[in-house]
Amino acid sequence: MRFLILSDIHANIEALEAVMADANGSYDQIVCCGDLVGYNPDPAAIVEWTEARCASVIRGNHDKVVAGIDDLEWFNPAAQASARWTKAQLSSTQLEYLHNLPQGPRAVDGFDIIHGAPFDEDEYVVSTESAADSFASLRGELAFFGHSHLQGGYFQKRRHVGHLDHVRAGEPELTIVLEHDTLYLVNPGSVGQPRDGDPRAAYAVYDTESRWLQFRRVTYDIELTAAKIRKAGLPDVLGMRLFRGQ
Ligand code: ZN
Repeated sequence: MRFLILSDIHANIEALEAVMADANGSYDQIVCCGDLVGYNPDPAAIVEWTEARCASVIRGNHDKVVAGIDDLEWFNPAAQASARWTKAQLSSTQLEYLHNLPQGPRAVDGFDIIHGAPFDEDEYVVSTESAADSFASLRGELAFFGHSHLQGGYFQKRRHVGHLDHVRAGEPELTIVLEHDTLYLVNPGSVGQPRDGDPRAAYAVYDTESRWLQFRRVTYDIELTAAKIRKAGLPDVLGMRLFRGQ
């Protein structure tokens, strides 16, 4: 089985369309590690798309805030403004869909999907130290996660925890084959708001039989997304950060 692994789409339809064109149907199922909405200007379209197309989805922290499960107070001012705006754009059915998204970890097909860390969906896994804590509570050998918006992730072989490699600037992809007797926490990167300095939309493809994993990056029309952010009256900084990949 081949999976298209998406995370942190964040209401960016231009980025998602570019990802789907790039993936070109070469997968059996789509899974999503949360944060469908927030920051960008097309939450309703992304909720509709996710409900129709994704086989397995879990909730992210932005989905929780927009659905009223969590408080706004932990968000920075731009994220707060976008969460309020997003809530007003969604129908009651769409808000209910967000509200009912399951909490990770969720078992898929020999791997789990999680939003933050295996032990806390809101925790960021952004260092080998935080990855070591996460490996200690990992249920199987492999999980895909999001939340940090940083493509790549971590492996643990015996006691050693290290970084997975990432796609270089100007390269479209990076392929690795997962080893046995090794644990993996893999971040496909963010479709809609990458923060690793590479503004291209990020995603991953994983083949369960061959244990083949490919990180991919694809350019999209950031000018259009930023113009829609301005037109919606969302904070300008949300469009500007897309150009920098931050
Ligand atoms: Zn996110």
